[in-house]
Amino acid sequence: MHVLLNGFLRFRATAFQGQAARYRKLAFTGQNPRAAVIACCDSRVDPQAIFSAGPGDLFVIRNVANLVPPYHPNADYHGTSAALEFAVRRLRVPNLIVMGHTGCGGIRALLDGDTDSDFLGNWMRIAEDVRERVAQEPDPAAAAEREAARQSLRNLATFPWVRERLDAGDLRLFACLFDITAGDLHLLDVQGRLRTVSPELIRSLVPDGE
Ligand SMILES: [Zn+2]
Repeated sequence: MHVLLNGFLRFRATAFQGQAARYRKLAFTGQNPRAAVIACCDSRVDPQAIFSAGPGDLFVIRNVANLVPPYHPNADYHGTSAALEFAVRRLRVPNLIVMGHTGCGGIRALLDGDTDSDFLGNWMRIAEDVRERVAQEPDPAAAAEREAARQSLRNLATFPWVRERLDAGDLRLFACLFDITAGDLHLLDVQGRLRTVSPELIRSLVPDGE
C-alpha cells in the first residue's frame, strides 16, 4: 500500500500540478471525452497509457475480457451496460472503442470452460459462441481474442440508442487489439482482419478532425 500512496504523492506533485489548469477546467465544465473505451481489467492494458490520453480524454469501461453484453434491460446489475448508457446517452461520446489484448486471462477461462466461479463463467457466456468458432484455429486463444472483440462490436449495435446514433452518423465504432509483448496496436475490421497502427496507417484513414 505504501508504494501506491507514495505514487499518489508523486502524481500530485508532478502530473496533477502540471495539468492543474486542465483539471480545474474539467471540474468546472464537466467531462466531454473524445471516446469511450471498453477494455479489459488486465493490469497490463491501461487505455489511458496506451493512447497517451490525459484527464478528460477517455471514458474508460473495464471488465473481464472487454466484453459488451447484448442489450438486455432487466432488474439485474448491469455495470457495463449502465456505463455504456452514460457514455452514449448522457456524454454523447463520438467514438466507441473495444480494445482487446494478447494473453487475456478471461479469454483463457472461456476456452478452458471455467466452471469453478461465482460470476466469471457466467460473464464469459457473452462470448460462448466464440469458443466453438475458434476451436479449429491454429492459435485458438489469439483467434478468440479477435472474435470476442468482434462479438462485442455486434452486441454494441443491439443497444437501441447506439443503433440510433450509428444510423444518424453521429457515432463511430472501432475494435483494436493491443499486443503486450510487441507493444503494437492492431485495428480490427469487420471481417476480422488486423492492421497495425503506424504513421502510414493513420495517414490512410479518413480524417475525423480529432
Ligand atoms: Zn484480458
